[in-house]
Amino acid sequence: MKYPVYERFYTWQGEGVHLGRAAYFIRLYGCPQACPWCDSAGTWHPEYRPAGVTLMSAQDLADRVAQESPAGAFVVITGGEPILFDLAPLVNLLHTLGRRVHIETSGIAPLRGALDWVTLSPKPFGTWPTPDVVARADEVKIIVQVPQDIQAGLDTLKGLRDDAVIWLHPEWSKARDRDMAVLNAITDAVKANPRLRAGYQMHKLYRAD
Ligand code: SF4
Repeated sequence: MKYPVYERFYTWQGEGVHLGRAAYFIRLYGCPQACPWCDSAGTWHPEYRPAGVTLMSAQDLADRVAQESPAGAFVVITGGEPILFDLAPLVNLLHTLGRRVHIETSGIAPLRGALDWVTLSPKPFGTWPTPDVVARADEVKIIVQVPQDIQAGLDTLKGLRDDAVIWLHPEWSKARDRDMAVLNAITDAVKANPRLRAGYQMHKLYRAD
């Protein structure tokens, strides 16, 4: 099979437990969730679809990872919604290179492939994550655009492991504009429930645009 690759690049992980670590990102095309605040609309919205979505085999992608990043950098498969695709052939090849493979997903379909790390970002206003992805998640990232998003996100997590980390991330424009209703809601939630952590998209601070 071939994967529709929207973009791929070598950088560092900008959020979550693996913040700051060198990582090679593979961003696949396609997502049915249509989040109103999506900051990756180029990966799914018809108006933004670039001419250059490239179909690549698992072998092509593994070769690029090996050429374009050093041993020790892990690989993040994201989107769009990468769980729509059978990732097993790609994950297997990346494992033969000695790479650990992470996925970032809203969890709307069964996971395929022996992923080493699962970041679940539930979309309570869209399709909820499946129970098997919730049970498999290593960390959860709840995007908070309005304070009510915190509880709505938590409501999708029945069956989450006790050791999974739960991040509350302000939606980017709310962080950029220092929307104190959202930021204070995150602070209050973390203080009320120490299981939660306040998060941030650090990579956006480093971007020129
Ligand atoms: Fe965008 Fe992610 Fe929402 Fe899909 S799930 S619309 S890629 S933010």
